[in-house]
Amino acid sequence: MTLPAALAELRRVLGDPGVLAPDDPAAAFVRDERGLFPAHPAAVLRPRSTEQVAAAVAVCARHRVPVVPFAGGTGLVGGALPLGEGTQVVLSVRGLDRIRSVDPADFALTAEAGCTVTEVQQAAERAGLLFPLRLASEGSCRIGGAVATNAGGSNVLRYGMTRDLVLGLEAVLPDGRIWHGLRTLYKDNTGYDLKQLLIGSEGTLGIVTAATLRLFPRPRHQAVALLALPGLAPLPALLALARELLEDRLTALELFGRTGLDLVLAHTAGHRDPFDRPHPRYLLVEATATRDGAGLTAQLEAFLARAVEQRLAVDAVPALDAAQARALWALREALPEAEKRAGGAVKHDVSVPLGAIARFVETAEQAVAQACPGALVNAFGHVGDGNVHLNVLAGEGSSPVIEQLVADFAGSVSAEHGIGVLKRAALAATRSPLELELQRAVKAALDPHGLMNPGKVL
Ligand SMILES: Cc1cc2nc3c(=O)[nH]c(=O)nc-3n(C[C@H](O)[C@H](O)[C@H](O)COP(=O)(O)OP(=O)(O)OC[C@H]3O[C@@H](n4cnc5c(N)ncnc54)[C@H](O)[C@@H]3O)c2cc1C
Repeated sequence: MTLPAALAELRRVLGDPGVLAPDDPAAAFVRDERGLFPAHPAAVLRPRSTEQVAAAVAVCARHRVPVVPFAGGTGLVGGALPLGEGTQVVLSVRGLDRIRSVDPADFALTAEAGCTVTEVQQAAERAGLLFPLRLASEGSCRIGGAVATNAGGSNVLRYGMTRDLVLGLEAVLPDGRIWHGLRTLYKDNTGYDLKQLLIGSEGTLGIVTAATLRLFPRPRHQAVALLALPGLAPLPALLALARELLEDRLTALELFGRTGLDLVLAHTAGHRDPFDRPHPRYLLVEATATRDGAGLTAQLEAFLARAVEQRLAVDAVPALDAAQARALWALREALPEAEKRAGGAVKHDVSVPLGAIARFVETAEQAVAQACPGALVNAFGHVGDGNVHLNVLAGEGSSPVIEQLVADFAGSVSAEHGIGVLKRAALAATRSPLELELQRAVKAALDPHGLMNPGKVL
């Protein structure tokens, strides 16, 4: 590796403003928001076009300098931070920030990797359509990062993960070649699906520079309610009832517990408990429709009535207008911030089969209580997808307990956030040698010199 020669060449390719020294104040955005990982890059590259990304990566490949792709920096597993001391360059895609096209006839939009998810949502909305990726970090996370982590969020139940929302990709490969895969096809069975290899690869197979994304008819009606549950036991029956009575209008099912609500009420402002007494668990339900708002409200009411009648819920609060719906959602969305203000938590973003979710959460809470006396489990999340965030306050030492349980329940140690550097050991412990061998084979085929985000995932 000849770093000084590479940096000199990179300056010629990107210009001086395109290559920041690590101590340049303009490079300060390269940091870990959670404060878990230090960042000591050799330099921070700021290309402004796909061609510049390709030229920069080609220089790095020739000089064998490792490259770490960086987008919004909201990732939770340390994937976008360089390892080591000044040996890896960070390549930020924030300068690729154009919406290239919005094509209502194709129900598609093409955005560059540095556009925030909010900017893409807004571009779709201006065309009267919906880009359905919805996550609490959407104002900061970028399309490149969302694609690279296969982001999920609270609309997955209805619209799927990012993997389901991508029609085509443009990417720079580890040797600097550009793969032009920005197709707008809903059906395309022509060999291996290369875009799906890159989606969720966390920057280890190449740099996504643009994506063609699926759009949907924009719902004009929303029905939201919060249910108070007597415990977790009714959860599987409630999920089934919601799917049956709300049909494919069901958009989100989010669980949180009294522990979480207490954290929100104690540590964040502007919230109130919608019920007149505490309950062990809460389930937030949302259904949306493009037309027939009255029918949607009637469907939600029927669901709430049946849930209470069958004793699956003890109480329910429907939102009567948009402001009340926002207030109910705000309780769920404030959970990460409330946790942070309460001193932070050891986070586990896991999934198990849908039918096992209630048993899993109960078992995990008991196991953590035994293994880590005094720890507080804040279990919440996209429970309609079998995904739960088991975050443990004062929970040092809780990870092995939870990872073992995930394996016992045939689950996944990363439902949404990816592997990065934080979950590498957990990946190795929970996937079979054959699966790991195949993953390494893919990596070696696309990145034979191991220069693209080395030390992450595998
Ligand atoms: C408050 C909060 C709430 C969150 N909620 C959710 C949620 O509900 N669901 C969810 O899935 N995640 C969630 N996240 C995690 C995070 O927002 C997502 O992982 C997001 O997709 C990361 O995007 P980013 O642009 O910030 O990527 P970064 O953090 O910059 O990068 C993430 C990874 O992708 C790689 N990468 C970045 N850009 C590219 C590129 N152009 N090409 C190739 N690789 C690239 C990086 O190297 C790194 O490995 C949340 C985070 C926060 C802080």
